[in-house]
Order: sequence, then C-alpha cells, then structure tokens
Amino acid sequence: MGKVIALANQKGGVGKTTTTANLGIGLVNEGKKVLLIDCDAQGSLTESLGFINPDEIDTTLSTLMEKCMKEIPVKKGEGILHHNEGVDLIPANIELSGMETALVNVMSRERVLKNLIDTVKDDYDYILIDCMPSLGMLTINSLVAADEVIIPVQAHYLPAKGLEQLLTTVNRVKRQINPNLKVGGILMTMVDSRTNYSKAVSGQIRLNYGKHLTVYKTEIPLSVRTAEISAVGKSIYEYDKKGKAAEAYKNFTKEVLNDGKQRNKHRDEIIR
Ligand code: ATP
Ligand code: MG
Repeated sequence: MGKVIALANQKGGVGKTTTTANLGIGLVNEGKKVLLIDCDAQGSLTESLGFINPDEIDTTLSTLMEKCMKEIPVKKGEGILHHNEGVDLIPANIELSGMETALVNVMSRERVLKNLIDTVKDDYDYILIDCMPSLGMLTINSLVAADEVIIPVQAHYLPAKGLEQLLTTVNRVKRQINPNLKVGGILMTMVDSRTNYSKAVSGQIRLNYGKHLTVYKTEIPLSVRTAEISAVGKSIYEYDKKGKAAEAYKNFTKEVLNDGKQRNKHRDEIIR
C-alpha cells in the first residue's frame, strides 16, 4: 500500500509544487512507483510536468472527485497521465476551483479525496499531493487522505504565524478525522547561503520547531535553474544534473525514504 504524503503550506510560493515534482521524480529514480496529484486549480504541477494547457485536459482531479461524490466507480488508471521521467500524475485545472463550494453540501465532504486515493493506493509506493496555498476544504481533504505532511518553508521571512496555523489545522485533522496523520517534517527551500538573513531564518526554524518536529537536514538552495524547470517540463535531475539543487533534492529524497528507519533509530537511542 502506498504512503500518501501531502505537501502543504497555506503561504503561497514557498516551493510546494517544485518539491512535489522533484521529490516525486527523485523517488522514481530510487526505484519507487510514484503518483503525483495536483490539488491546486492553478494546475502549476500539471504545467510544470509539461502538460502546458491544463484547461484542455478532460479528465482531471475535479472530474474524478465528482465521480467519487456521486459514487460512480473510477476505472483503473482513469485520468492518470504519464511523464517521461517515470512519474504518474492526476492533473488539475481551473475546474477544481468549483470544488471548494461543491464539497460543502456533500456527505463525508472531508473524505472525498481519500476515497479516490483508496482506489489507486495499491498501485504505488508513494502518492504525493501538491496542495494549494490555502487551508480550505481541498487542503483538509489532502490532510485527511495523507499519512504524512511535508511543509516547505521559504527561507526568506519568518513564517511564525502561518506555520502555527498550519500545525493547528494538522492537529485538528489528526484528532477529529485521521489519527494516523504525522508531520513528516519541515523543508527549508530557496535558501540563499550568501545572505545572513536566509541562514538566520533557517536557524530560527530549527531552534523553534526542531525539538518537536523533524526539520530536514537538507536545505534546498535558491537557484535560478530550479526556477526555470517549470517552463521546460523536466525535473531538476534532467535539467541541471550536476547543479546544487539537483544534489539537494536527491539528498532530501533519501531523507524521506529513510524517514521511518531514522525515526526508529532515534527512538531506540532514547530508550537505551
Ligand atoms: P503556490 O503556493 O502558488 O502553489 P508553491 O508553494 O507551489 O506556490 P512553487 O510554485 O514551487 O511554490 O515555487 C514558487 C516560485 O519559486 C516558482 O516560480 C518556482 O519556479 C520558484 N522556485 C521554487 N524553488 C526554487 C528554488 N530552489 N530556487 C529558486 N526559485 C525557486
Ligand atoms: Mg504550487
């Protein structure tokens, strides 16, 4: 059964989509079967994987969720696109913007995405959900469907309030609907090692949250090449193989893969 990871932060432009694509393809490169789900009506993940006109795609997350809401069976592989670097995708487009309100009057409205994911879970090792920048119903649906949430944080400013709000939402979902939900960790993105400010933000986050949550050791550097990949439909591993960002995303992928093991080791050390 696949592990479901939501990449969430209600703050916009922190690297959720970029991380979803490159963690996903990173996991494929480590031999895993991976499905990405674009859960943002902007369709940025869909576009960044080279499907440049999301609005012209007929079957998307929105149509599949609608089927689940109406209890119409979803066929095997229905709506799933394939990227040439080996990752699968459920795309999204502007139609998903109606979903927030459509969900309001549906029975079990928090579980619609989970019900959809349950139909494909056995086919993958990892399912990554690229959330939109809000804490609305679609993000709640993602957290309900997830085993784990990864929180990308941009090292440009101190995100104190937003992060607290997100963690409160995660805990609420955990208490009320999905007791299995864990915070996988906080990932520092767009870290500019030349500026003291960027280093200070990263240091503060580690200081404030590191005691209770994982803050991944790997930091994703600020890199122009990374900003360019969404326009070429490739991963950072293809586009700038030898660059620092490719190396960082590869290391981050390994941290995600080893997560379970490291956590157990850490616990054993404490017990001893
Ligand atoms: P949204 O909240 O709008 O969905 P997001 O959190 O998904 O945004 P991205 O779209 O991944 O964030 O990134 C925001 C912008 O920053 C994009 O233009 C992207 O190309 C750029 N970007 C992402 N990572 C890096 C990086 N490491 N270095 C430089 N630019 C980056
Ligand atoms: Mg995005």
